[in-house]
Amino acid sequence: MTKPASLWPAPPDTALLELEQVSRQFGVAPGATGFGQRMARWLGQPRPPVTRAVDGVSLAVRPGEVVGLVGESGSGKSTLGRMAAGLLAPTRGEVRVRGRALDTLPPAERLAARLAVQMVFQDPNSSLNPRLRVSRIVGEAPLAHGLCEPSALDDYVCAQLQRAGLDPALRHRYPHQFSGGQRQRIGIARALAVAPALLVCDEAVAALDVSIQAQILNLFQDLREQLGLAYVFISHDLGVIRHLCDRVLVMYLGRVIESAPATELFTRPAHPYTQALLAEIPDITQRRSRFSALSGEVPSALNPPTGCHFHPRCPQAMARCRQEAPSLRGIAIQHQVACHLHPSS
Ligand code: SF4
Repeated sequence: MTKPASLWPAPPDTALLELEQVSRQFGVAPGATGFGQRMARWLGQPRPPVTRAVDGVSLAVRPGEVVGLVGESGSGKSTLGRMAAGLLAPTRGEVRVRGRALDTLPPAERLAARLAVQMVFQDPNSSLNPRLRVSRIVGEAPLAHGLCEPSALDDYVCAQLQRAGLDPALRHRYPHQFSGGQRQRIGIARALAVAPALLVCDEAVAALDVSIQAQILNLFQDLREQLGLAYVFISHDLGVIRHLCDRVLVMYLGRVIESAPATELFTRPAHPYTQALLAEIPDITQRRSRFSALSGEVPSALNPPTGCHFHPRCPQAMARCRQEAPSLRGIAIQHQVACHLHPSS
């Protein structure tokens, strides 16, 4: 098996991870020329639908930075997270780690880049193999990749469990013998075991009770301080995003429609969709008789609306919005928005 190289040095201002204009579509691409597609066309069969889950998104994460991805179901944030973690290849665009494109790396460096970005999943029940003891779940990858000698593995596993806030004495148990919060800690220990520089957390606390959520969020913050970890934090919970993130990207139907530092986004949201999302955050100091939910459903990614994808639901839509897709433009320092209401600053 290829042994991972160390991550290469880079100038201090180089992003740890960059996704440059990445797109991911599912289904058969319109120009596909494989035998199956040629036969289907020859037989007159209709072309299978293509879903553009992510459409031309750029994202850069600096060392130690926490970037939040928010949006309704179907916005493409999980697909983007999987591309960031290397679990899905982009259909178009480029992924770079410390300034070097993944496609161009030799095998040992590509493996190092893959190990540097790990994922923590939403459901700790299905992300852990129920037939393996915790010691094996956590120890398998570092052993396979030569990050730890077999003789030192037990101590290594204990150290990872301790870091994730689990009693190492429990390492010989199976996942079903733990609570949901403990299982999520096992998933975090497994990710930490390959010494990552960035964790992609996809709704990592959504399946947990509120008190356990707070413990896991505090663990993420402690790990950031101790190890300098960066995060891409995917959540539909804007309270969590506001609490944890330095910068936030708002996604709608596969595109980024607003990007800003967290404090700026939560105090001065510029896109009508972001404004609607923030208006729905429950506020204990304000008793509301009704919530003004966003009207309408998220349109299907199989057949997205023309122009601005948000125009069928936007209270400020104009004729231009139905024709012309707005591009992401800077309206303040580090604040970008894709909406015709906002010309570039
Ligand atoms: Fe609304 Fe038009 Fe802005 Fe889209 S571009 S958010 S439809 S105003």
